[in-house]
Amino acid sequence: MGRLRLSWADLAGLVYPPRCSLCGTIGEPPVCSECREEFGPPAPSRDWADGIAWSRSLFLFEGRAAQAVRRLKYGRATSLARPMAEMIEQARVEAPAHDVIVPVPIHWVRRTQRGFNQSELLAELAPRDLTRPGFLVRTRFTRPQVGLTAKERLVNLTGAFKAGPAVRGARVLLIDDVVTSGGTALACAHALRMAGALETGLLTFCGEFPSD
Ligand SMILES: [Zn+2]
Repeated sequence: MGRLRLSWADLAGLVYPPRCSLCGTIGEPPVCSECREEFGPPAPSRDWADGIAWSRSLFLFEGRAAQAVRRLKYGRATSLARPMAEMIEQARVEAPAHDVIVPVPIHWVRRTQRGFNQSELLAELAPRDLTRPGFLVRTRFTRPQVGLTAKERLVNLTGAFKAGPAVRGARVLLIDDVVTSGGTALACAHALRMAGALETGLLTFCGEFPSD
């Protein structure tokens, strides 16, 4: 009798058949075509008074797109990373010129807890020779921004990031999963500017309506 040889991947496929990570439909890729069609509309463009040269958020932070962001980050649905990174990369090649791609860093403690940085996953398909996650570090473990006022968020984030001298003279493209108040992006841009970066653009998967 022939021995049935199954790899761990085969076994995992039997126990956990491939399914859409958003609606759960079995036999579909991580994002099924129906869910993909529910992504959108694009987030409205933002008027950054200072610090961010330009920004683009692929989708408004609602519905399926918001679900994808949350499942990736909090639900550890890393199978979503690839299709989301493909959409980010498609937008990145259309973005204004940039010399360096920097995924927005999370603190190493949070990275250890979560096992990954979602922004790095989203930047995974960007050219290796442009991607420099080490150019910016999160030096302070900050409280979650949820539930804080705009002013509290800003205080919470002041000095939370530090950039190295390697960024001097570079046009930086920040990549993040979602922009809400914009405080994180502004704090990153500030740290980059302090280190001599020429300008900072921001590309995110989702964006909220800017609030004041
Ligand atoms: Zn689906």
